[in-house]
Amino acid sequence: MTAEKAITIETEKDLISQNEFGTFFGVTQDTLDRVWHQLQEPDGNSAVYISMEIGADPDVFHPVLDFLHDAEITGSEDEVADAFIQKYLHGPHKIPNYSGGLGVLAGDTLKSFADMHIPVTAISLLYKEGYFSQFVDSKVGQIDQATYWEPEKTPTLFQLHDPTDPGSPLEISVPFFNEHDQPERIKAQVWMKMEISEELDFFVPEFLIDYSIDSAPAWIREASDQLYNAKTTIMKANQRRMLGSCVLPLMEALGFTGRTIHLNEQHGVAVSLHLILRELKKRLGKDFYKRMKDADILQVVDTVAQRIVYTIHTPVKAGHDRFPRSMYTGISHQVCRRILDLLAKDEDSPSEYNFTTLAMRVNRAVNSVSRLHRDVTRRQFPRFADKITAVTNGVHHLTWISKNRARVFDDQAILAGWRNDPGRFTDITTDQRDFTTALNIAWQQDNRILINYINRMLRMHRNQMLETWIDPPNFLSRLEEAPDLESGIFTLGFARRFSTYKRADLIFDDIDALAAILLQKNQRINLVFAGKAHPADEPGKSVLKLILDNQEKLYKKTKGLAKLVFIPGYDMSIAKMMVSGVHAWLNSPKRPLEASGTSGMKAAMNGTPNISVMDGWWVEGYHEGLTGWKFGYEGPVEEANLSEDTGTLLYAEDSLSFYKLLPEILDLFYEQPEEYLRVAVDNLRLNVPIFNTHRMAAEYVEKYDLQLDESTVATVRHFQKLYQSNQDSA
Ligand SMILES: *Cc1c(COP(=O)(O)O)cnc(C)c1O
Repeated sequence: MTAEKAITIETEKDLISQNEFGTFFGVTQDTLDRVWHQLQEPDGNSAVYISMEIGADPDVFHPVLDFLHDAEITGSEDEVADAFIQKYLHGPHKIPNYSGGLGVLAGDTLKSFADMHIPVTAISLLYKEGYFSQFVDSKVGQIDQATYWEPEKTPTLFQLHDPTDPGSPLEISVPFFNEHDQPERIKAQVWMKMEISEELDFFVPEFLIDYSIDSAPAWIREASDQLYNAKTTIMKANQRRMLGSCVLPLMEALGFTGRTIHLNEQHGVAVSLHLILRELKKRLGKDFYKRMKDADILQVVDTVAQRIVYTIHTPVKAGHDRFPRSMYTGISHQVCRRILDLLAKDEDSPSEYNFTTLAMRVNRAVNSVSRLHRDVTRRQFPRFADKITAVTNGVHHLTWISKNRARVFDDQAILAGWRNDPGRFTDITTDQRDFTTALNIAWQQDNRILINYINRMLRMHRNQMLETWIDPPNFLSRLEEAPDLESGIFTLGFARRFSTYKRADLIFDDIDALAAILLQKNQRINLVFAGKAHPADEPGKSVLKLILDNQEKLYKKTKGLAKLVFIPGYDMSIAKMMVSGVHAWLNSPKRPLEASGTSGMKAAMNGTPNISVMDGWWVEGYHEGLTGWKFGYEGPVEEANLSEDTGTLLYAEDSLSFYKLLPEILDLFYEQPEEYLRVAVDNLRLNVPIFNTHRMAAEYVEKYDLQLDESTVATVRHFQKLYQSNQDSA
């Protein structure tokens, strides 16, 4: 099924649209005008979504690309359309403006807003060197390099033009309240990416602010090169200010009015500071900072708070920005510091400003990203406990369901409409033999795709090793007779950022125990790992190195039964290939430090069962005997559980629990494949309707307080009925 589009597109030319800011490709003129006007409505009836990173690579999902492919459009007689089409079909399809889960969640969320016709503007930064690229050498471990990419060649990205001078890029002027009394104005350019709905009849514009222009001062340019790469604390603070401070000037330049501002993490919280400054000026006049009293500030805060919705994403301390107050004396206006003194006090460390505290203080709604995370967040921020609720994360089902699986779903009458409504999966059962059989075939195909990819990679690395100095990341590439991985062998996947609390190496804690399990019944296993450690995260890099170091040991101890492979350069397309290509998805964090986790949901969208610690979303997604397996500590969360110190990570206990569980899973897979398949079907039935971003977006819409037309309200209600995240205990 290629869904009948809700709008008529007669020729490819219909996908060209323009307005005073430029010429775009992907939606009709009517759609562009309609959405743009909505975002400009005088009553501010739209939301603004702010995120440090957005991950939405077009090679993984893009409705316009799909449309071109389905309609077999390869060019156009119209010159303008042809240029766009060539760019779409042949241009680079990666936008490396994300580092991991936070960014991918943002991208998935915006796609669902578009599918559901929710008027939202998104704002993030454009990083000329993206997030770092990962190379892996078995002796050295991870090697980080800048990612060079070309926004101007990337389809789906459009640089906005200056309406008064269409030959020049639009430049907005961003005020930084520096240590001098006058704001320092910094110029920045604007790129737009459109997250276009599946039906091509709506979009969410995503504005990426490019500070790295010729006229920029050095301190701005160096801060704008790479996502999350800061040589100094000042640089890091400036990166956050660059995100929060551009919001209001951008909205004004576009005439956009969105009343509600959603902070996807506290990184962009400087926008709240700017709103407070504006409101103070409005109430007290131009020289407000000479006259304002604490009471004035607090009054203004109540007003500004009505506009802010805040999502907190992690209980891990490194995720919460704190900066020395003394440093702020050097970079920030006294008026900002007075506001921060009042609102950003760090209880534990009086010499620092805590920006999570600021975000917690100034909002009308705070939410965590799962039920367990809600309870943990309440405990961490008792002052704000009453207003913290849960909106459990989701993933954009259309992005993460593999092509092979999607074809099976399309063919099922009982799933009719699943592309627009992931709730349709509620109706499938394990009695539908044809469905189960077709699902199994698709799964085998996806497994083969992954295994072939790995074998090609191992061979390529082997050749590179013969030609260059490179030491390949995988032990298997170094063997004289490199044995191929085989499809159909139980394949376990693990891929995510390499933070220590995620314990990527947990299941290798006792290699002898692991080997004994496999040797006992002569069962084979492929272990496929991927993920990046932040360049400054040395402990994270050591964990990655440990995975590499274990390859040979494991292979030898199991007499070749276990093959452990590392795929370098983890990104969205590798993620998609893995979650659909493996037979089970492993998640082994220290409970409760994985606030939600989303890669396991991507697996669930494909039916792939999870083997997971009872943390984050799995507390809600695990159903005994139905959706996958649990292991590890699942007792109450005490203060000690929140520690990330090496000694407290419970390796021995939790790995033992995994070794107890593994034989059961292997037996099921090898000896009762029908039963194993049943788990996949139940997983689809129980988890697809819940852990998707349509449901999540619907829960957010409630917090955004928007006036929507009747049909959109009906859509939102429908998805809200699928699940209520904020029910009682986790
Ligand atoms: C989904 C995804 C993540 C997040 O995975 P978690 O399980 O939430 O840690 C990180 N990186 C990429 C490329 C992803 O696609």
